[in-house]
Amino acid sequence: MGATGIEWTRGPNGEQGYTFNPWIGCTRVSPACDHCYAAGAAIKLGVEWDAQPRSVSESSWQAPLALNRKAAREGVRFRVFTGSMCDVLDKNASTPDRHRLWSTIEATPNLDWMILTKRPQLAGRYMPKPWWRGEWPRNAWFGFTAENQKEFDRRWSWAREVPAPLIFVSAEPLLEAYTLPDDAAKIGLFIVGGESGRLADCRPTPDGAFDFMRFQCIRLGIPFFMKQLDQINHRGFYKKFDRFPMRLQVREQPRILV
Ligand code: SF4
Repeated sequence: MGATGIEWTRGPNGEQGYTFNPWIGCTRVSPACDHCYAAGAAIKLGVEWDAQPRSVSESSWQAPLALNRKAAREGVRFRVFTGSMCDVLDKNASTPDRHRLWSTIEATPNLDWMILTKRPQLAGRYMPKPWWRGEWPRNAWFGFTAENQKEFDRRWSWAREVPAPLIFVSAEPLLEAYTLPDDAAKIGLFIVGGESGRLADCRPTPDGAFDFMRFQCIRLGIPFFMKQLDQINHRGFYKKFDRFPMRLQVREQPRILV
């Protein structure tokens, strides 16, 4: 577990955000994975990608419990993005590790877990049955990646059934403008970003696509978070919030269902 600079993990008062990986390793499933950052980072750790993930150490598992105690002591909440080096619904993950993740979330009520997946179709199979029967933890937020219309439509058809207090979307990398249906109004946070990484690999976000998503979020009342522009078209300033077009200088807080 570690502190992260990922802007959407910060709390409403600027509280530090964190990442936690219950294992390391994943398998590519859609165009958003083509230039997976984690796959490159994993090489340095000796983890093979598109293969069996590797478990993490016991001390890693203790870290969220310690962070939960710190949050309680300080009277704040911290957000934890899981996972940045894996997908928690990956079918290749070990069952004990996955069960331990759910137990850890239940044992850390002072942390808000931002569970982000590209496999929402497996939530029903792998997430705890009691969660689906009225016991979904308040601190388990559920998100999915949607880089284009096809992936949004497919993944939303599963994610909209998830009874989490917050469903969020990560449209990063945004590869095309796409249409949100009216029932997407229940999405509590829509994060948008262009592709970054090795410049030669970066795909552009088509002209007007960021604006198109922003306008739809306004229409549907969905909180919008502009993370970054696409690197290929905005070299040198794609991450600089104050250099974004004024209409895209928007970073709203999530709307959590009560
Ligand atoms: S799901 Fe995420 S971690 Fe897994 S390969 Fe795709 S981008 Fe990488």
